[in-house]
Amino acid sequence: MTTAMTTATATTSEDADRAGVPDLAERLAAVTQVAEQHLDRHDRDATFPEEALAELRNTRLLGLLVPKEEGGLGGTLDDLIEAGIVLGRTDMSLSMIFVMHCQQAEAVVRHAASPLREELIPLLASGRMYLASVTTESGKGADLFKSEAPLHESEGTLEVDRAVPISTGGTSADGFLITMRSPYATADHHVSLVYAHRHQLDVEVAGEWRPLGMRATHSLPLRISGRIPGHQVIGEHGAFHRIVQSVFGPLAHLGWSAAWLGTASGALSRVLHLLRDPAGRKRFDLRSELLLTRLSRARQRLETVHALLRRTQALAESGTDWSVTSHQLLLNNLKITAAEECHAAVQELIDAVGLKHGYLQDSPTGLEKALRDLRSAVLNFSNDRLHLADGRLCLLDPDVRFH
Ligand SMILES: Cc1cc2nc3c(=O)[nH]c(=O)nc-3n(C[C@H](O)[C@H](O)[C@H](O)COP(=O)(O)OP(=O)(O)OC[C@H]3O[C@@H](n4cnc5c(N)ncnc54)[C@H](O)[C@@H]3O)c2cc1C
Repeated sequence: MTTAMTTATATTSEDADRAGVPDLAERLAAVTQVAEQHLDRHDRDATFPEEALAELRNTRLLGLLVPKEEGGLGGTLDDLIEAGIVLGRTDMSLSMIFVMHCQQAEAVVRHAASPLREELIPLLASGRMYLASVTTESGKGADLFKSEAPLHESEGTLEVDRAVPISTGGTSADGFLITMRSPYATADHHVSLVYAHRHQLDVEVAGEWRPLGMRATHSLPLRISGRIPGHQVIGEHGAFHRIVQSVFGPLAHLGWSAAWLGTASGALSRVLHLLRDPAGRKRFDLRSELLLTRLSRARQRLETVHALLRRTQALAESGTDWSVTSHQLLLNNLKITAAEECHAAVQELIDAVGLKHGYLQDSPTGLEKALRDLRSAVLNFSNDRLHLADGRLCLLDPDVRFH
């Protein structure tokens, strides 16, 4: 983690002394207030939440993880997780847009070298720049350690020509981080990460975005092409795996899990408020053992995810080596568990309150939308892939040592 991010360990019990951004809650409240006004429209029309993005820029939250010394907000990992949870309580799409942007920004902060660093960091620090991610490819799916899209280098420029089947906010982004096969690759896993400004690329929309949930991520298929200066590579050519291990993997799993936990806990909170208000008390039997058990189970699932999230966060804050088997297992299991349990908690709540408030779109519980959104969690870097990786890691640890 960056210097700013590791300082999270230095927190005291006093909120006022907490490391990180002191007015984070106010900045997030400004964003959620705007987001709420446009939520239904963006979910209905599957359009990008431009108003909330504008507020993420105004509040400079898009520069959350850029250290203060470099002009950013100097946010900590704890700030990122808090933001993921808070935004997720309002809208999972918005939360994912934000945490994925922060993951990209952190890759630049940690791995961009001069002169790209001097070009990009001020833009990111100001909070004006929104970065989109281009890692998925049709042929190799979500596998980050492989790319079939060749990057050509000639006379100091790099030629980008790449299809991406799903790119969140790609038509609203100011810049892109793109994975491609290194110009010097001798194997598929020699992947480079390059940066491209929007104005350096032709960005062609190659299809539609008509998903079950996560509709406001507006994750269209794109074809992107253009020429960029040779220095716009992040880290070394062919060494994207190092960025995956130090930034993309940990921040993706921590950030996504925060977004999912926020979404599911927002759903539980709205259900509890409904049950406790006078009309709810009349409509529901609050002594029903079935209802109480279902509420308890939903809470139990979320406590499990929260505990795992905070445990993994603490490990990240200690500046861990993620190549250690038990650390990798913990990180992967956070993602797997958060994806399953947050979705299952919302299922539980739907059964608890029934059709009117569990299944219909116009219920104030928002359970119908939360369920659709959370259904994507196991697919977003598929749990199947992670189970295979974890199975291999298990074989390396026959004594079953937990971190
Ligand atoms: C809301 C949302 C937003 C996204 N935004 C972006 C974005 O901005 N940029 C971007 O690049 N990507 C984005 N993605 C894509 C994401 O990162 C994953 O690449 C994608 O979800 C994986 O899709 P897949 O199921 O088709 O691919 P795969 O992971 O390839 O899986 C396809 C199927 O094959 C199985 N499978 C494949 N390989 C293996 C294996 N080795 N072991 C076991 N099973 C396997 C899987 O279980 C699954 O059933 C987004 C995804 C979502 C849901």
